Amino acid sequence: MATKKAVVKSAGKTASTAASKKTSARKATAKKVVKKEDGGLPLSVVIRRRIEAQKARFHANDNISAFIKPGELEGLVDEVAEKMQAVLESLVIDTESDHNTLNTSKRVAKMYVQEVFNGRYVVQPTLTKFPNVSRLNELMIIGPITVRSACSHHLCPIMGRIWIGVLPSKDSALIGLSKYSRLTEWVMCRPQIQEEAVVELADMLEKKIKPIGVAIVMDADHFCMQWRGVKDRDSKMVNSVMRGAFLKDANLRREFLSLLERR
Ligand SMILES: [Zn+2]
Repeated sequence: MATKKAVVKSAGKTASTAASKKTSARKATAKKVVKKEDGGLPLSVVIRRRIEAQKARFHANDNISAFIKPGELEGLVDEVAEKMQAVLESLVIDTESDHNTLNTSKRVAKMYVQEVFNGRYVVQPTLTKFPNVSRLNELMIIGPITVRSACSHHLCPIMGRIWIGVLPSKDSALIGLSKYSRLTEWVMCRPQIQEEAVVELADMLEKKIKPIGVAIVMDADHFCMQWRGVKDRDSKMVNSVMRGAFLKDANLRREFLSLLERR
């Protein structure tokens, strides 16, 4: 709505051919982004209604891929771009003559939906499970895995590393090493808080591998402490989750943590 109004306003003011060309280009964009279905409802509302009908949750760190039909993500990008354009206008940024911000709304929309928050919209990566043929029950440590996430309070980046410790049982299903990174990326590419992110990852690994124990340590820089707020460049957050054997067995926990210290 806001975008439409702005277009009309600038059409009334601009006289030069170049400007009106730009205006008609913007009008074309506006027409394209107003891709609505189900009686003219925005796509986000359509998706939201599907979620609500199932009484499912759609917090920032929830995956809602089950409610999105093929091809709809592009439509979501268009809708976010339209609203992002309104944000830029409210920030009083001249996106028409400032060539740097001309397509910023579209770029930011793509970045959110297709990259940094993609873990909300796409299905969980498939995990090939291998039977534990050699019946391994030794401590495995995977990491450091690079973490790129964002806080759900400010949408500021969280950049860090994660280590995963697994103590498989003789009957555990094992997953390939690269799958730990894939799964971590899928969980982290959502706005969230670090404490909840590691818990979600631990839950998922417990469910998939059914190990005797799983441990996760995450160490991250929070840009909402460095770029804004207290502007403390050195503040970091380290937290851990210990499950099963890692919780009960202090020696195992020590072994895991001491191996991390050597890295
Ligand atoms: Zn924050």
